[in-house]
Amino acid sequence: MTLAGRTPRRGSALADLGLLREGAILLRDGVIAAVGPAGKVEKLKAARSAELLDLDGRIVLPGFVDSHTHLIHAASRAEEYELKIQGVGYEEIARKGGGILNSVGRLRSTASQDLKARARLFLERFAEYGTTTLEAKSGYGLDLTSELRILSLHKELDAEQPLEIVSTFLGAHVVPAEFRNRPHGGSDYCRLLEQELIPEVAANGLAEYCDVFCERSAFSLSESRAILLAGKKHGLRPRIHAEQLSSTGATRLGVELGAASCDHLEYAKPADVRFLAKSNTVATLLPGCDFHLGLDRYAPARKLIDAGAVVSLASDFNPGTSPSLSMPMVLSLAANQLRMTPAEAIAAATINGAYALGRHKTIGSLEAGKQADLAVFEVADYREIPYYFGVNTCWLTMKRGEVIHMRD
Ligand SMILES: [Zn+2]
Repeated sequence: MTLAGRTPRRGSALADLGLLREGAILLRDGVIAAVGPAGKVEKLKAARSAELLDLDGRIVLPGFVDSHTHLIHAASRAEEYELKIQGVGYEEIARKGGGILNSVGRLRSTASQDLKARARLFLERFAEYGTTTLEAKSGYGLDLTSELRILSLHKELDAEQPLEIVSTFLGAHVVPAEFRNRPHGGSDYCRLLEQELIPEVAANGLAEYCDVFCERSAFSLSESRAILLAGKKHGLRPRIHAEQLSSTGATRLGVELGAASCDHLEYAKPADVRFLAKSNTVATLLPGCDFHLGLDRYAPARKLIDAGAVVSLASDFNPGTSPSLSMPMVLSLAANQLRMTPAEAIAAATINGAYALGRHKTIGSLEAGKQADLAVFEVADYREIPYYFGVNTCWLTMKRGEVIHMRD
């Protein structure tokens, strides 16, 4: 599956995988030199001296681009998982100091080297499931020191291990506990974000994007606008957590501000679908979150695709609402819950994910000149990737031409 063709994929083009039977790829210095029918590629002069990796009928696709994760956190929230199973709501847990604030407390008291070691283990696992690039958000620090620590870890990890990490500042995840009992705590924290944290993050080149959790339990529409505008002023492109638990108008705001993506969209209204369809803002869907929370309301994927919006899929890997980093599992959920075909889901998780991160010129498809980022699956038919739900059929993962995972 080359995924070659027009970018981003919209409407019926989303199912276009650029399928090639009996194909071959010639790699050189971590970059794709040629891709096409094996008979043709093998005859190229440069192919004669190349080392052969016989994939023996397995299926090759671009490495997954997971465009929404909360990579750096200190611990799981398995205790809240059990409460949720027993019927306590996500927002109720959050009001009692659980939820995001639980993760914030734990992260602040955890040394950077321990956070890094934990993230490294997860990154190895991302590779085992075929992911080669991921976006990572801060947002479990919520003070200057802790947020800078998280963003610095993104940078260090990006340099020290093979997966590519795109860094997003999410200081506007929730209002931290120390601001909550103050008379104007919420607006004080917003001011801190706009006047201190955002300028500091930008000045140190620690993030490419600025994100806001726009929700009744987090930041209002007007606060979200002010924070994203402050980010823009400092060169951070907006993205936004939109319409996850209620309809807030965040989608319209995101589109207006030229956000790279509006993420979640479970409560998107028909007008939101139209705004997205007319824009280049990506609708990033995170079905793992609804699955883990046991919610029966998923994003209106079919309506978004049919209207012509750019749809991508991501894991939302995080300890509270989506503790899975498996993109194959996300594809299974996209098929069963979002009614996306396997082909649509694969394009949404590769080329459209790359577009959501502004990386579509270098990754997301198998085309000459792009990075040699690929995933090989041990299946007889590409539809078997989501079909075997919860089963990892990824056989080999390659990042910039280097094998970073191979099943023995
Ligand atoms: Zn998120």
